[in-house]
Amino acid sequence: MNTYEVIIIGAGVIGSSIAFHLARLGAKNVLLLDRGSIGAGTTSQSSGILRTHYSVKENIELARQSWDVFNRFPEYLGDEEASCGMVKCGYMIAAPEGGKLEPLRASLQQQRNQGVKVEVLSRAQARELLPIARFDDAALIGYEPEAGFADAYLVATSFARAARRAGVTVKEHVDVRRLLVENGRVAGVSTSAGDLRAAMVISTQSIWTPDLSGWIGRELPLVPERHAVLALECEAAKYTFSMPVFKDLASPGMLYCRSYGGSQMLVSEGVMGEKLNGAELEQGDIPVDYIIEVGAQVAERFPAYETSGIASSWTGVYDVTPDWNPVLGRLPGLEGLVVGYGFSGHGFKLAPMVGRILAQEALGLPTDVSLDAYSIERFRTGALLRGKYGVGAVS
Ligand SMILES: Cc1cc2nc3c(=O)[nH]c(=O)nc-3n(C[C@H](O)[C@H](O)[C@H](O)COP(=O)(O)OP(=O)(O)OC[C@H]3O[C@@H](n4cnc5c(N)ncnc54)[C@H](O)[C@@H]3O)c2cc1C
Repeated sequence: MNTYEVIIIGAGVIGSSIAFHLARLGAKNVLLLDRGSIGAGTTSQSSGILRTHYSVKENIELARQSWDVFNRFPEYLGDEEASCGMVKCGYMIAAPEGGKLEPLRASLQQQRNQGVKVEVLSRAQARELLPIARFDDAALIGYEPEAGFADAYLVATSFARAARRAGVTVKEHVDVRRLLVENGRVAGVSTSAGDLRAAMVISTQSIWTPDLSGWIGRELPLVPERHAVLALECEAAKYTFSMPVFKDLASPGMLYCRSYGGSQMLVSEGVMGEKLNGAELEQGDIPVDYIIEVGAQVAERFPAYETSGIASSWTGVYDVTPDWNPVLGRLPGLEGLVVGYGFSGHGFKLAPMVGRILAQEALGLPTDVSLDAYSIERFRTGALLRGKYGVGAVS
């Protein structure tokens, strides 16, 4: 039977980042497994937005340090051909008078306290950066120049490639069926390719985490939620790569929008999605009424989009925890198991640092950012990681 120092279940952007960081930190015999192919899970459905705008201070820290990695991705990976597909267009977020105003103000202040460069824009300044939008209702407009979007699939495959080059074994199309547990501690995994031994297993199974829950007989709170993403086409008001990502706190759906290249805008709602009974990656229906409703919200902010058409659409599934923040670290009571799941629709922008700190934790090293706040114990103690905006992916 093959024996490894660490086995990682799941080669999404999180598992691939962990694999790279384990090798970087000196682990000698690491195995990264996926039942599908690298990055083909929920990572392939991501909108790719990178921001440090959060209200939870731990999230700001992870996002800030992750941004530094995205910003010098080839150098960080030691691979001059690597690319994360980054478009550094900035991130703008606007709130009208009302309930979202104070959370926005407080979040901007929290970012500043943590050394993030954020600006408050006048309506005229906002129009200069995003001339296709109207801002007459905006009471507060925040702007983060060091932000934008990138390609989550490319990042996952780049981390996996760099991990491979550093000696990690990557096996695709291998299904993990259960954990091997001996004397109350993890001893490896049983897979479609046989049993594999390791004293440390890291699960980054995203919406498939309930499988792990079944293997260890322990509840791991998580609901899979389907979200729709639309690409709208509007020749009259092109959303170019130089225009910032825009978060519209005035819209009922808390829309986020970004350029999708050409004359297209990518748009999705930042509110609750469709709760699923199980992990399903397949495409869901997007009713015409829903498209009309989101289109109307877009036209409210971007008047020329009144006449836009739909170019494409897809659905993706979030792994949502009760407080919309991830569970990171060891599971108390079972030695040899580390988890990283529950990214609730905002895990891509955190992936570099989450990979680093979970690799550090698995190797028994001090972590660059404390894992305490992300412990699963918070669901038992009630010390939830609630953001100032309430539940939702802004967090
Ligand atoms: C529509 C959508 C938009 C998003 N937009 C953004 C955004 O703009 N910005 C942002 O930061 N985040 C965004 N996210 C969230 C982000 O993309 C995810 O948090 C992140 O990609 C999750 O990565 P992961 O590695 O945890 O999961 P996944 O990529 O799903 O990887 C999990 C892997 O585990 C494997 N696996 C599971 N069980 C087993 C098993 N038993 N054996 C072997 N393999 C197994 C699966 O095959 C899968 O490949 C979005 C997500 C969606 C769905």
